[in-house]
Amino acid sequence: MARTVLVINSGSSSIKYQLLDPDTGEVHAKGLCERIGEKEGHIAHKYQGKTTEVNEPIADHGAGLSEILRLFDEVGPSIAESNVIGVGHRVVQGGKYFDGPALITDEVRQKIEELCPLAPLHNPAHLSGIDVAKKLLPDVPHVAVFDTAFFQTLPAEASTYAIDQEVAEKYEVRRYGAHGTSHRFVSGRVAELLDRSDLKQIVLHLGNGASASAVVNGEAVDTSMGLTPLEGLVMGTRTGDIDPAVVFHLARQANMSIDELDTLFNKKSGLLGLCGDNDMRTVRDLADEGNEKARAALDVYLHRLVSYVGRYYAVMGGLDVIAFTAGVGENDVDIRRELCERLAFMGIELDEEVNKIRGDEPRTISTPNSKITVMVVPTNEELSIAQQVMQIAQK
Ligand code: ADP
Repeated sequence: MARTVLVINSGSSSIKYQLLDPDTGEVHAKGLCERIGEKEGHIAHKYQGKTTEVNEPIADHGAGLSEILRLFDEVGPSIAESNVIGVGHRVVQGGKYFDGPALITDEVRQKIEELCPLAPLHNPAHLSGIDVAKKLLPDVPHVAVFDTAFFQTLPAEASTYAIDQEVAEKYEVRRYGAHGTSHRFVSGRVAELLDRSDLKQIVLHLGNGASASAVVNGEAVDTSMGLTPLEGLVMGTRTGDIDPAVVFHLARQANMSIDELDTLFNKKSGLLGLCGDNDMRTVRDLADEGNEKARAALDVYLHRLVSYVGRYYAVMGGLDVIAFTAGVGENDVDIRRELCERLAFMGIELDEEVNKIRGDEPRTISTPNSKITVMVVPTNEELSIAQQVMQIAQK
């Protein structure tokens, strides 16, 4: 009988889950539980092409997960009959402790708890998900897969902020990166597809959150997200890079509190702050209709991307592949075209017709003459987590 892994991704007020075959990637069931802790919660559970919805208050992550497992029981597929060999928990912050997946022992749980100040919205949510899942599924290994793990290979010169190192060490202030599971998966797929391990790659994970990484021979050497996922590229609602003195200025001049600034930078900035919408499709439509703010937002977004590509080209001393992934990277023909046009000086030549083809398969979108291979490689964080659970479960 085929094996399955249950992958659980607890966000601050949501739980995403998938039951999938780690060998083939086939998804048996998946769903999303949202608005945890709010007046009206919502679960959508998808199995055999049918969506079952639950609308009721969901007090906390424990209640959400119990309800999800009840849906598996009642609607299917039965967890007991699915040959579940492990549960994978996505954890946003693994700090300096984890450079790969870890079996969740009491000691590992303790470390995830210790790291809560570095990911105050996420790690506590992961912990409640882990506790409940372990109680409800006690007989299989539970494995934590960290968003930061892939970036533990960053050389100190790339992960260190130039601040007083006494302060940095005491408060563990350094660049940890994020989206690591996706960057690991995509750069690994590129190497497989091109049948080459000696590659200098830039992976552009462009979703609502967005990040870039520089990967040499399979190891990350630089990444755009920092202590938290706020640093780097322009995102749906996050600023990305910004002079930290903007904080001092707004605190002094606008009397804004730390919490207000946190909300401003994380939730009201990026594309949303620039032009009033964070969905790239809407921003593009507005720009096409002549909306100047939307066009300016796209230009700021592209300018940041160009500067990161240039930066990583220099950091790696060369570049073989640029790989686009996530919602915008996989689907947005125009962003890919506009970025490649701006990078034409590097010898990048896009095959415009191939770039327009839509699909779920990884593909090369540059011409054979292009000095740098440009690819679209759909990310699959759940499959990557399931594969990493297998590594641990088989030990
Ligand atoms: P996250 O996981 O960070 O929430 P996704 O990777 O799902 O995000 O990406 C969401 C983003 O992808 C949204 O901004 C959405 O507009 C964009 N997106 C999805 N489909 C398309 C498309 N066809 N064209 C352009 N952008 C798209």
